[in-house]
Amino acid sequence: MAVTPELQHTVGKSAGFSGTALHTGEKVTLRLHPAPVDHGIKFKRKDLQDEPTIDAKIENLKMVERATTIGEGSIRVHTVEHVLAALWAMGVDNAVVEMDANEPPIGDGSAQSYVDLIRKAGVIAQEEPRKFFHVRDTMHVESKTGTLIILLPDEKFRISCTQAGPNNQFSQFFSMEVTPAVFEREIAPARTFVYYEDVKPLMDKNLIKGGSLENAIVVRGEAVLSKEPLRFSDEFVRHKILDVIGDLALVGRRIRGHVVAVKPGHATNAELARAIAREQTRRSAVATPRTMPSGDGGLDIDQVMQILPHRFPFLMVDRIISFETETKCVGVKTVTINEPFFQGHFPGHPVMPGVMQVEAMAQVASILLFKLAKTTSRIGYFMSADEVKFRKPVLPGDTIFIHAELTKSRGERLAKAKCHCVVNDAIVSEAELMFTFLDK
Ligand SMILES: [Zn+2]
Repeated sequence: MAVTPELQHTVGKSAGFSGTALHTGEKVTLRLHPAPVDHGIKFKRKDLQDEPTIDAKIENLKMVERATTIGEGSIRVHTVEHVLAALWAMGVDNAVVEMDANEPPIGDGSAQSYVDLIRKAGVIAQEEPRKFFHVRDTMHVESKTGTLIILLPDEKFRISCTQAGPNNQFSQFFSMEVTPAVFEREIAPARTFVYYEDVKPLMDKNLIKGGSLENAIVVRGEAVLSKEPLRFSDEFVRHKILDVIGDLALVGRRIRGHVVAVKPGHATNAELARAIAREQTRRSAVATPRTMPSGDGGLDIDQVMQILPHRFPFLMVDRIISFETETKCVGVKTVTINEPFFQGHFPGHPVMPGVMQVEAMAQVASILLFKLAKTTSRIGYFMSADEVKFRKPVLPGDTIFIHAELTKSRGERLAKAKCHCVVNDAIVSEAELMFTFLDK
């Protein structure tokens, strides 16, 4: 199963297996399916109505206690890190992970069962190149509990990790380049380990019904309890690396850098993934051209006004400068002191109202909806805005780059868009918008 490093890959065919869910103790079946280029990894809840999917993206991270949980709306998928680590390290960029429960089968607490599954399904190259995150400057995150993760520039994706238990018991170190072969041999078999004092209260509350010595190593004082003997003398640090790979897969890009992790945990892994995603957004914003592309690459103001019914003072887009895909585009709005809203917001201290930025995002998203529906007879009405954040003030003289991406389009009626506004390479506002379609 040789993986061509430059191209995106998916699984060759669908394949599945069943096992026990860690938290509920119930039986769960997981199936992998091939997915098109630029799809990424998505989890599908086959047990729920409409079979919703959740993107394995850092924006969807919900919880990092003991395991990594992602979700959208009220839908959750727990304990995603081992299956994500296996997919990512074995070279799978695009796949649907379908499950009939809210977490994958725990297997033996390692990533072995997922690697076996990926081998069964095969890994095949696709036509598009992979997307990378090249580390340029050293980044780091740390926690009050002594965790430190540093990300250094490197041509390859490498992880060096140290692990130490209470009183520096079980101090271990392991360093590797993350390749499918090394992962399969050195990391995938390493099992989850837990401290007895940590799991005892959970067992008492019946919160880990599927937990047993079959799928975790339990450390109690000096004693190491497990069904089979340790698979490596440094199995703990290897499992820590497994979790780092799985959590960093949420970045959605192949990292080219060296992760140096001291006592890592899900919370700091996720924090690093978030920092990388933020840096990537900043770089994309910097790379955004300001001029009109030639051909069909953008829309000038006449074309914008043919699509949007809005007019002065409510037209909040000057031009569309790029359509990255059918569902993703960037608009530009140049803010001047002559904007009518500055007169009252606030006299002597002009700041662009946040609601106007949300309006700008909604207008750029509407243009995407129009391009997708290919009709101007219906218009997307803005229904709700979630996760709205205003991070920095927008002032006269600023140029706003309005990024919009359609994330969900449910039939003919509803659509959802993730948007953010960028000024001077920094995100100034963001929102998730919901639209419904009505005839004009
Ligand atoms: Zn783990």
